[in-house]
Amino acid sequence: MSKAQQKSGQSKLSEAPLVGRFAPTPSGFLHLGNVFCSLLAWLYAKRSGGKIVLRIEDLDPQRCSLAKADALARELEWLGLTWDEGAYVSADSDAYFQSRRSDIYAHYFDKLRQADLVYPCFCSRGELHAAEAPHTSDGRIIYAGTCSRLTEAERAAKEKLRRPAWRVRVTDEPICFHDAHYGAQSLRLTEECGDFILRRSDGVYAYQLAVVIDDALMGVTQVVRGCDLLSSTPMQLYLYKLLGFTPPSFCHIPLLTDAEGRRLAKRDGDLEISLLRKAYGAPEPIIGLLAYLAGQLERPEPLSAAELLPLFDAAKIPTQNIVVPRELIHQ
Ligand code: GLU
Repeated sequence: MSKAQQKSGQSKLSEAPLVGRFAPTPSGFLHLGNVFCSLLAWLYAKRSGGKIVLRIEDLDPQRCSLAKADALARELEWLGLTWDEGAYVSADSDAYFQSRRSDIYAHYFDKLRQADLVYPCFCSRGELHAAEAPHTSDGRIIYAGTCSRLTEAERAAKEKLRRPAWRVRVTDEPICFHDAHYGAQSLRLTEECGDFILRRSDGVYAYQLAVVIDDALMGVTQVVRGCDLLSSTPMQLYLYKLLGFTPPSFCHIPLLTDAEGRRLAKRDGDLEISLLRKAYGAPEPIIGLLAYLAGQLERPEPLSAAELLPLFDAAKIPTQNIVVPRELIHQ
C-alpha cells in the first residue's frame, strides 16, 4: 500500500461514524460531573455522524435502583443528550440493564473458567488488606496470588467454609494503548493490581468483566469516560484479548472537582441535575457552563447540545482536572 493510500485509509478510519455510549451507574442522582462526561461522549459520537447507546450499569443490586435509572434517563433527555439505542428506547430495552445480563456474563465467565484462566479466591478482606500485602506507590493493593497456589485439597477444604470470589490470572506483559486524550499508555497488570476479580463471592459479576462484554456485544467503538477509569483500561484490554473481542478506542477526560480537588460526589448534592434544573429552568445554561468548563466556550453562555456540536473541538478539552467555580452556579 502506498503512503497516500495509507493516509487516505487512515483518515477514512478516523471519520467512520463512532458508536459511543452513556454508561451511568444508578446508585446516586445525576450530577454535573456525570453530565460532563455524557456531554463529551455525545459530542464525540455525534460529530462523527455516529450514535450513542445507553446502558444502565446497575450490576450491584444493593447500590442501584430502577427509580434512579428512570430519573437519570429523564434528566439526560431533558438536557438534550439523546441516545439512539439502548435502555428506554430499544424494543429490547431490558437487555441494556446490566442487572438483567447475568446469563450473558456467566457464559463468558465459563469460557474463561474452562480455559483455566480464572481461579477461586478465598482471601478475606483482612488478609487482602494486611500490612505486608504488596501495594502500588499510591496505596492500591496488588493481589499476591495466594489462592492461585492452593493445592486441590486446600481448595476443597476452603470451599466448605466460604464462597469464593473468582480472579483472572494476569501476565507480566506490558499492555500498551493510545488514549485519544492522554496519549500513549503502557502498564503491567502484575505491577498495577495482580490477578483481579471477575466475580464477587456473592455471585455478582465485576464491573471489569461486564463492561468489556457489554461494550463488545453492543458494538461500542469508542469509550469516552472520566480519567479515574484510565487505570481500569489495561484490565479491560486484557479481557478483550482473552475473550477474543476487538477493543474500542478509549478517550479519558478530566474530572470535575470541588475547590479541594476532590471529584464531585454525593456530598456535592447541590450540583445534582435535578436541583440545577429547578434553579435554571432550562438546559441551555447548564450545557453552556459545561461547554465552558470543557474549554469549548470563552465564557459560560447558554446554548443547547445541538448548538454546541458544530463548535466542538476535542483539542480544547483540558488535560488537568477542572475545578467547578462555585460563583458560576446559580442557586
Ligand atoms: N458506570 C461507570 C460510572 O458511572 C462508568 C463505567 C465506564 O464508563 O466504563 O462511573
